[in-house]
This record gives sequence, structure tokens and C-alpha cells, in this order.
Amino acid sequence: MPPPLHTVDLIRKKRDGGTLNAREIGFLVAGAADGSIPLEQLSAWLMASWIRGLTLKETRSLTIAMRDSGEKFSPARLGKVAVDKHSTGGVGDKTSFLVAPIAAACGLAVPMISGRALGHTGGTLDKLEAIPGYRTALTLSEFETVLMNCGASIVSQTPSLVPADRVLYSLRDRTGTVENPGLIGASILSKKLAAGLDALVLDVKTGSGAFLRQYDQSEYLAALMVATAEGAGTRTVALLTDMDQPLGQAAGNWIELVEAVELLRGKRPTESEDLRELSLILAGWMIYLGGAAPSAEVGRQFAEAALEDGSALAVFFKMIEAQGGDTSVFDDPHFHKPGATQVLEAWESGYVSTMDTTKIGWAVQRLGAGREKAGEPVDPHAGILFHARRGASVERGQTIATLYATTPGMLAEPAALLREAITLCMTPPQAVPMVSRIFTRESAEAYLKTRSL
Ligand code: URA
Repeated sequence: MPPPLHTVDLIRKKRDGGTLNAREIGFLVAGAADGSIPLEQLSAWLMASWIRGLTLKETRSLTIAMRDSGEKFSPARLGKVAVDKHSTGGVGDKTSFLVAPIAAACGLAVPMISGRALGHTGGTLDKLEAIPGYRTALTLSEFETVLMNCGASIVSQTPSLVPADRVLYSLRDRTGTVENPGLIGASILSKKLAAGLDALVLDVKTGSGAFLRQYDQSEYLAALMVATAEGAGTRTVALLTDMDQPLGQAAGNWIELVEAVELLRGKRPTESEDLRELSLILAGWMIYLGGAAPSAEVGRQFAEAALEDGSALAVFFKMIEAQGGDTSVFDDPHFHKPGATQVLEAWESGYVSTMDTTKIGWAVQRLGAGREKAGEPVDPHAGILFHARRGASVERGQTIATLYATTPGMLAEPAALLREAITLCMTPPQAVPMVSRIFTRESAEAYLKTRSL
């Protein structure tokens, strides 16, 4: 019979630099899920973990304990390989609306459990809820039905899915313990693994809009998540991708969906080319890991074909309708009704040199597209449309961006933030690769042997 555990002993052990074993972590996670450990003790453990860091073993134990803290989804009855993609938060990142229907059109199942806007980053669910009628809160059996009929479904977490993360995440948000690779990795992966995935593609952001600002922190997070998810039996790769400017031309809710649907309709606006490229790369990896292509490159070719022949668009619209959404709004030029509009003009001639993407994300949030407090409504029509991206040459007076706010009074602060976030220079900036590094199981494990943060 193992000795009884006491929360205060575990907090002190972590505080003093010790390592908690799987039983100890399981005890804390169970106490978070069933409410038997008070929030002040959970907060102290989280802060000790944030300061001391989690070992790879602790991250694994935390991920598994959180994954198993509630109900799980089993894709077995779908009769297809289940794959998903997760991006670690970004500005203007609407790749889910492209990769989910593309992978489904290529014969895979994509059970995607997504999140809401968080801090300066946008949320897939808030964007989808801009479509009149779209329901994100499906039961697991409704989720299964949509997946059976459409191949893809994008939903919110259910109350019973990974309840421990719900408690711990909201505490982390309030106690300054979000930005830690082990805690982030376990939080993300517990939800993804609870969806019973066969394969997972992680898009780990780097640069000025990323959650973890230092490149080596993003590398560490990517390698840690790949090793942890592979250890739990899910084939996983992580791509480190550029978030040194918003992805594509729109950042907001409705305007991001419109941009994604333009690409699904086969259009190729120059300002959306980076979004198209990243989506094809990510979808290519999903298709390869899901066994529907012999390599990620061939997967990318299949992905491009699904964009061009309209099959991905058909899946996306079928999924929206299956979840109660009205797709006719995508053909209604009067649907987009922002409360107030303002443009940002170039204050001198030059090249768009840098874009502080976190600052831009806050500008988008304060226009009304995100929330100040949990539970507040968001404005589907607020956001920023960029007419010039990093590296573009602009003339003084040329429109760089259009801001959409809920009310005229909400324009001034975001407009000032956006002006501060952008620099114009006489020389063009250096091009940044879209994908700077890829971790597979082997490279992640080799990397982790040489590093610990
Ligand atoms: N997204 C999550 O789900 N969890 C984190 O900790 C950070 C981003």
C-alpha cells in the first residue's frame, strides 16, 4: 500500500526543485478535476512548476493525467484515420478553416476541438461563431455524426472533456503561469489526445506574435510536445513557423473566414499567399502522417488539388451546415457590418519593415474582436484588414490597413497601437522563411537530450 499523499508536501517538493512522479502528479490533477484540492494550493503548485520547470517525464505524466481526467472521444467508429493540426496561438491564423476540410477531402477524419481567443491571439471558435447559426458546443455524439457525414468537425471542449485543464488553465490565466513550455505542452496535448487522434501536426509559432518570444523556447516547446505526444502513441510532427507578421490579410473574426473561403474558392490574392502556402504545408503533413500520401511533399500536392477542384470547399460548407450555420452569408456582400471604420495611411514612403504582431493582436482585440474578460461576447465584424504586408513598398498616403470597430469610440486606441506596431524603412526587410524547423520523433528526442530550459 503506497503512503498517502498530501498536497502541501508535493508543493514543497516542487518548490525546492524536486521532481514529482506520475502518482503525485495524478493526485494533483485528480484534485483539480474533482475540486478536492483548493485553488490556492493548485496555484502554489503551478507557480512552483512555472519557476522550477517540468522535466520531460513530468510533462508526460501531467499530459496523461489531464487527458484521462474526464470523458474521451473515440474516432474508432468513423472507420478512417483521425488527424488534426494545432497552432500555438497566432494573429490572423485561420489555417484550421483550410487544413481541416482539405484533409477530410483527402479521405481522413479531422475531429478538431478548438479554443477561443486568448490574450492577444484569436480563437477559431469565435471566428466560426461569426457565421449565423453555427454551433460550436456539440455533444460527443453530435460531433461523431458530423464527422461521419462530413469528415471534419470543429467544436469546443465539452464540460466533461479534460476537466482538469479547464480548472488549471483558468488558474494559470489568473496567476501569471501561462508561459511555461511544460504547462503549455501538457495543456494543449491533453485536449488533442483526448480526441483519440492517430496523428497530429503541431504548428508552433515563432517571432513577435508568438506566446513564447524566444526562438529557443519555441524550439523547446515543439520538441517537448512531439516527444510527449509520440510517447502517448500519436504520430506527431511540429513545424516552427513565422508569426513575425499576421498570417494572411485579415485579423478578426468574420473577415478571417472570408479570407479562408476565398482561398477555398480557388482565388489567390497576393496578400493571402503566405496563408495558402502554410496551409498547404500543414495539410501535406496531415495527409502524409494519416497514411494518405507517401511523403509530406506528395501530401501537399494532394492538398493543392483539393483546393483547386473545390472538394475542400464542399467539405467546409457541408460541415458548417451540419453544425447549423448559414453558408449563404458568404455570398452576401452586405453581411459584413462593422460599427465603425478607419484607415491607416503610410506616414512616409518606404518598405513595411517590421510588424509587432503581439501589439497588432491587442489592437484587434480592443477593436472588439476579442474579450477583456472571460465570457464576454465578441464582435464578429471587428478586426483589421491589411493592404500591405511585411516587405511591401508603400507611398506616403497609401492605405496600409483598414480597421473595423464595434463603435467609433473604440477606434482610437487600436489605431495608435497599430501605428506603433509598424515600422517603415528605406531598405526592404530580409525575407523570413515560413517554416524554419521541423521536428519529428527522432529529431525531437535528439534535441531534448541536448537541452533543458
Ligand atoms: N493553448 C492551450 O490550450 N493551453 C495553453 O497553455 C496555451 C495555449
